[in-house]
Amino acid sequence: MTQEQWGELKKELLKSVGSNSYKNWIEPLEFDGVTDGIATFSVPTSFLGNYVSRNFGELILYQMTARSPEVKRLNFQVAANTTTRPTTAAQPVTKAAQNPVDGFLPAAPLDDRFTFDTFVVGKPNELAHAAAKRVAEGGPVTFNPLFLYGGVGLGKTHLMHAIAWELQARRPDLNVVYLSAEQFMYRFVQALRDRKMMDFKQMFRSVDVLMVDDVQFIAGKDSTQEEFFHTFNALVDQNKQIIISGDRAPGEIENLENRIKSRLQCGLVVDLHPTDYELRLGILQSKAELFGAQYPDLHMDQGVLEFLAHRISTNVRVLEGAMTRLYAFASLVGHQITLELTQDCLADVLRASERKISIEEIQRKVSDHYNIRLSDMIGPKRVRNFARPRQVAMYLCKQMTSRSLPEIGRCFGGRDHTTVMHGVRRIEELRAQDGQIAEDLELLRRTLES
Ligand code: ADP
Ligand code: MG
Repeated sequence: MTQEQWGELKKELLKSVGSNSYKNWIEPLEFDGVTDGIATFSVPTSFLGNYVSRNFGELILYQMTARSPEVKRLNFQVAANTTTRPTTAAQPVTKAAQNPVDGFLPAAPLDDRFTFDTFVVGKPNELAHAAAKRVAEGGPVTFNPLFLYGGVGLGKTHLMHAIAWELQARRPDLNVVYLSAEQFMYRFVQALRDRKMMDFKQMFRSVDVLMVDDVQFIAGKDSTQEEFFHTFNALVDQNKQIIISGDRAPGEIENLENRIKSRLQCGLVVDLHPTDYELRLGILQSKAELFGAQYPDLHMDQGVLEFLAHRISTNVRVLEGAMTRLYAFASLVGHQITLELTQDCLADVLRASERKISIEEIQRKVSDHYNIRLSDMIGPKRVRNFARPRQVAMYLCKQMTSRSLPEIGRCFGGRDHTTVMHGVRRIEELRAQDGQIAEDLELLRRTLES
């Protein structure tokens, strides 16, 4: 295949992929020639190469073989001198360690499934989703950093990958780096060991968008924190976007330096709340569609989805695991997915999640029950109308979750653990004396467990 032929082929590609994709993905390719059946292209970044290979590889190969049958495979390699960055070797760039280019440091690959398209939005995550979307537009930096936090399995990593994918598609000119805090530390330690701190600093300071997942990992790791702080400041000074995730709010991460906490709080801090019933149902429905395509013979009742949304914990990962298991099981035994099969197949998951009730759920149910606002239950007012329901909720949290008194106190507007202890004792006493309280508790417990 000659350069002219490649030029013609590009015109064909323009027609098939559209001008936007063409501009972003095909135009930057430089055709280097064919050797031993392998057509080689130079690409400016390994990300671009991987993206093209994954999304347009088949199409390009198909059209190439139509013109020159000798072509068997495509190869994308990072051009050594086309980047403006220090060296390609030092680039920790995001993804696709699947086909590592020479000297390319293995970095966190992005999961194909974690895009905005597959992210189901509901009340508990709508703010986080909106903020992520905004940052993913790649426009002027408005909040820096974006700090996403929430419990395990609520979609933090999913949203971060979605941002990275979208940024790469919209702004292929930006050097987007996604990695976990653990990988950051690993890189840092490696650089120290190999006496390559200059490279390390240069590498991270040449990034346009830095995404660090699970920042709580560096808590208590002093020199990593120190380096993270400098990297962070250097990037903020250059007005580069930073996106961080953590398992709790910046101020609540223990053993994290105060100056880092306050830096992290400077931008926009949004949390992913535990999923509610509607969101779980939405997620289950979208998963059911995906599985439905994979197992066209299996039918799943809406009733089963509703049952699962009711009965399985707030962690989306657990929901997904349950669905996977259900479909696999049903296809093995050749049965439709009925409620009965579901209860059989997921007995252990259902049992385990029976006890997994969140503090938030308890607060919500209790405030509903007593007809007060959730904010009043958590807020500072001490009037009896709010104080009693608050104590009931504290009591139920102690009884029905495995959270400690200080943790419970934090969820009640940052109250001290002694306040929680006092509340729990008070309800214990009342329960023995006051029939109404005993009845309320029983009713609440039953609705919470259902
Ligand atoms: P975290 O990083 O917060 O622990 P993840 O982002 O890894 O959680 O999410 C766990 C799993 O749940 C992933 O497979 C993810 O795709 C899925 N998930 C979480 N939230 C959603 C959502 N809103 N819509 C669809 N899938 C979700
Ligand atoms: Mg995660």
